[in-house]
Amino acid sequence: MQVSLYLLLMQERYGQVIESGLLWYLGSLSPQQVRMVPPEIQALIMHRNILAGHMMPGVPLPEVIREPWACDKCFQKAACALSHKVIADAIYLQSYLCQQPGL
Ligand code: SF4
Repeated sequence: MQVSLYLLLMQERYGQVIESGLLWYLGSLSPQQVRMVPPEIQALIMHRNILAGHMMPGVPLPEVIREPWACDKCFQKAACALSHKVIADAIYLQSYLCQQPGL
């Protein structure tokens, strides 16, 4: 999927159709060709649009995935955990304050 994103970016940058790219894992002897798969690109753009919608003012962040296979390798793990903790604490504090008489 990451190669598909790079292919999409290269298409936009160079203004030409790029149908495949190369993926070369560390430790492997040769690269493998990765073809652009239109349904995969469509799914990526749909997810991108959903995420962009969550970045609008007043719209909450998406739920944490809570899938170890995804979150363990995520480069945003620390920022994600921190922002969700801050939001959870703010919601707790807000509900606590709403229950206090006279506030
Ligand atoms: S740690 Fe990464 S993969 Fe997991 S919920 Fe946060 S942003 Fe998503």
